[in-house]
Amino acid sequence: MSNERQRRGLMLVISSPSGVGKTSLCRRLIADHADLELSISVTTRPPRPGEHEGREYYFVSRDEFMAQVADGVFLEWAEVHGHCYGTPREPVMAMLASGRDVIFDIDWQGALSIAQTAPIDTVRVFILPPSISEMARRIHVRAGDEDEVIARRLETAKVEFTKWGDYDYVLLNDDFDRAYADLAHIYHAERLRRDRNVWIAGFVEHLKIEQVRG
Ligand code: 5GP
Repeated sequence: MSNERQRRGLMLVISSPSGVGKTSLCRRLIADHADLELSISVTTRPPRPGEHEGREYYFVSRDEFMAQVADGVFLEWAEVHGHCYGTPREPVMAMLASGRDVIFDIDWQGALSIAQTAPIDTVRVFILPPSISEMARRIHVRAGDEDEVIARRLETAKVEFTKWGDYDYVLLNDDFDRAYADLAHIYHAERLRRDRNVWIAGFVEHLKIEQVRG
């Protein structure tokens, strides 16, 4: 596509308490959209079985994490469930500069921070579970979390739920396919917003000239 269709990349921030299906929704949206990429965070949390370095996260020690904080590596970072999580700035900037959109699977603190840094370019979506018991069940099913970790996540969820009012959109994940369709609609509509489509102004100028000539 020529420069006529130049678009401003958007930052799609998805948050929810643990066990609501946010990661699956994000991964499917990425699989279906070639110009949407996931921001891979750095964390001090140990990897779960099946997680790979650089795919789900970059796993580091707390000392390494704090050194990166001091070096200004992160666009935002926060402590969640007793571990540190941070979004590396440089890959996000590179993806946006190359015309791609970036999706973030991060908590409410990170969502707020990114929205404050780049309000025009950020779209925030909050995902709700159908019930607490269903959310607890999904957390239990996921391999690798100890009972103590699960209890902590359920406790944190009580705070996370109160943040839904900060988001642009709130989805209920009671049916994965429907929730996914809703998320995809949001993404498609947000991509079409006038202020993201830099090409329109030049195109209209071109139409005006064409009109005069005609
Ligand atoms: P988990 O340990 O289940 O992978 O993630 C725990 C929580 O940390 C989730 O709510 C997830 O969205 C959030 N999280 C993951 N990466 C980041 C990040 O870079 N920044 C912030 N603020 N939260 C993150």
